[in-house]
Amino acid sequence: MPFTHDAIIIGHGMAGTVLCETLMGRGLRVMVFDADLEGRASWVAAGVVNPISMRRTVLAWRASELLAIAGAFYRELELDYETELWKPLQMAEIFPTAQEAAIWQLRMRDPEINRMIGNGPMHDPGLEKLPQPYGHGIVLRSGWLNIRAMIDAQRARLRSEGSFSDQQVRDEDIRRMSDGIAVHESSAPLLIHCSGAFKLLPGVVPVRGEGITVRMRGLGMNCLLHRGAFVVPRGDDVYRIGSTFAWDNVWNGRTDEGKRLMLDRVERLWSGEIELLDHWSGVRPGSKDRRPILGRISEREAVLTGLGSRGALLAPWCAEHLADHLLDGKPLPAQAAAGCRGGDEGGLRLRPSAYPAPATP
Ligand SMILES: Cc1cc2nc3c(=O)[nH]c(=O)nc-3n(C[C@H](O)[C@H](O)[C@H](O)COP(=O)(O)OP(=O)(O)OC[C@H]3O[C@@H](n4cnc5c(N)ncnc54)[C@H](O)[C@@H]3O)c2cc1C
Repeated sequence: MPFTHDAIIIGHGMAGTVLCETLMGRGLRVMVFDADLEGRASWVAAGVVNPISMRRTVLAWRASELLAIAGAFYRELELDYETELWKPLQMAEIFPTAQEAAIWQLRMRDPEINRMIGNGPMHDPGLEKLPQPYGHGIVLRSGWLNIRAMIDAQRARLRSEGSFSDQQVRDEDIRRMSDGIAVHESSAPLLIHCSGAFKLLPGVVPVRGEGITVRMRGLGMNCLLHRGAFVVPRGDDVYRIGSTFAWDNVWNGRTDEGKRLMLDRVERLWSGEIELLDHWSGVRPGSKDRRPILGRISEREAVLTGLGSRGALLAPWCAEHLADHLLDGKPLPAQAAAGCRGGDEGGLRLRPSAYPAPATP
């Protein structure tokens, strides 16, 4: 029997969408399954694309390379789908202490990071209304991705082509044959799991995140902001604030504690009227070493997961490398080449394949 497709993807969040686009761009016929499970991360993600690790004011892992690939990928996607998805938007980092302000100045002397950050003041009418006794710095190369719109646009196209199914895929629905894989009525030489935190592959660590949507009437801020949490302007004085990190009881959904924590952050920031509009939660597919997880897990199956809290920045880079590996047999980037100067420590969690790439029809 001929295969119905060249590749099957399970999961249509950030990882599945970006990988699907990458594979289709290389001429593959792709079938996607997604069951819209409770707790999926991409539907609640704020969409912030930030090359800086705010905790320590260092460049995030491979940030320059990831950012260049992500920007080009999302711009291309906008043209293809004729939808606004990607907005370069600078971010203000309000310093909580004099020490943080001094560290920022110190980091600005590092030639690698100083292309990404600058000194305030940023001229934004809303930002100027917020208390900032120690001032603020600026992340110059940040941006915002409309993740929901991206997934919806691709899903509509896949549906119209009969390449999307909202059936859940249980383990018993996956039939492994000598030359390929069948899932429900579809078959392909290759299956890629993009199931986020729902499939606990070795190394995946589920991390719950909660956030809120509020109206801060009269603030009028247009830039991204970080002050204990990220603040994303959504127009009409509506802001998304996020998010928390919890490693226990991750599938419990929204909690009063999470809501309170986020409200506290907002109240410390803005003394004006705050109207709570929404409260949301999702489970990030984190990883033990905070690196993405990609590669083949058997001859005919591969994974792309572990995007953690930086899915929008990481996904295009991961998808490109995984496609190179699966289709052209290129090795995945070696740990030694991680070259993350000053970034988070730890290795690159990639699983180079022990098998030759399957021939694509
Ligand atoms: C509160 C919060 C805020 C965040 N903010 C940001 C941010 O500002 N910027 C950023 O870059 N990242 C952010 N993230 C992280 C980002 O959401 C993740 O990195 C990314 O969305 C992970 O995408 P994914 O596709 O791997 O997983 P998911 O989005 O969880 O997608 C997995 C999909 O697979 C489907 N699925 C799973 N198993 C099956 C099955 N067996 N059959 C059928 N379907 C299945 C699920 O329904 C789901 O749709 C945030 C995360 C959270 C929780």
